[in-house]
Amino acid sequence: MLQVEKLEVRYGRLAAVRGVSLTVGEGELVSVVGPNGAGKSTTLLAIAGALRGSSGSITFDGKRIDGSSPEAVAALGVSLVPEGRGVFTQLTVKENLLLGTPLRSGRGSVQADLERELARFPVLERCLSANAGKLSGGEQQQLVIARALMSRPRLLLLDEPSLGLAPLLVNRVFEIVAELRASGVTVLLVEQLAHRAVALADRSYVFSHGEVAATGSAEELAAAVDLESSYLGQK
Ligand code: ATP
Repeated sequence: MLQVEKLEVRYGRLAAVRGVSLTVGEGELVSVVGPNGAGKSTTLLAIAGALRGSSGSITFDGKRIDGSSPEAVAALGVSLVPEGRGVFTQLTVKENLLLGTPLRSGRGSVQADLERELARFPVLERCLSANAGKLSGGEQQQLVIARALMSRPRLLLLDEPSLGLAPLLVNRVFEIVAELRASGVTVLLVEQLAHRAVALADRSYVFSHGEVAATGSAEELAAAVDLESSYLGQK
């Protein structure tokens, strides 16, 4: 479904992503882990069309999307949940969810999408008319994921959904990611909590200094010598 080939992304003179290649197949949950500054978020932003690569290619469903606008990439069914919550705090939970609908391609009703997401995230149903700013960090994280899913994306890009959450809410976020995969959503997950992400994902890529340092299933990565001390760190 997604092929990134030899992608390079620069911020001025800094090459943040240096020749990254990765693939995500339909229905897969793929994680990208690695230390701070390894180029994980930059890669997601490039896939979503928010940053332009200086070389390499990004192909979605057989179409080149590098060089496409974020709107054009979103219209193909790629939805990014960026790092940080990105909730509109002055709007209600329902209004936040409805903001996720303009990109829908006209199949079914908004109401049906809303009901589907509220069934998936019962915590949001209970506070539908509350201001989103009143929600806890974990609830806000569920809200931004639900908002992204309102457009029924084919590929969901999740950037550090567990960041800054209390341990119980981190568990809930990982549960949600597992549920999404079980319901057939294709997910590319960037996570600081490397061990948990690798354990959950079908396959993972370990980034280091803007490059793919290792890739494989949890078992394959566990078998790679020194991986933990070299790249993963945090449990
Ligand atoms: P983190 O978990 O800290 O977000 P990451 O693996 O996602 O880490 P990136 O955010 O992609 O890493 O950053 C890769 C490199 O690019 C880092 O050296 C970072 O300092 C640099 N960088 C990121 N954003 C910018 C920017 N807007 N301008 C200049 N340099 C940037």
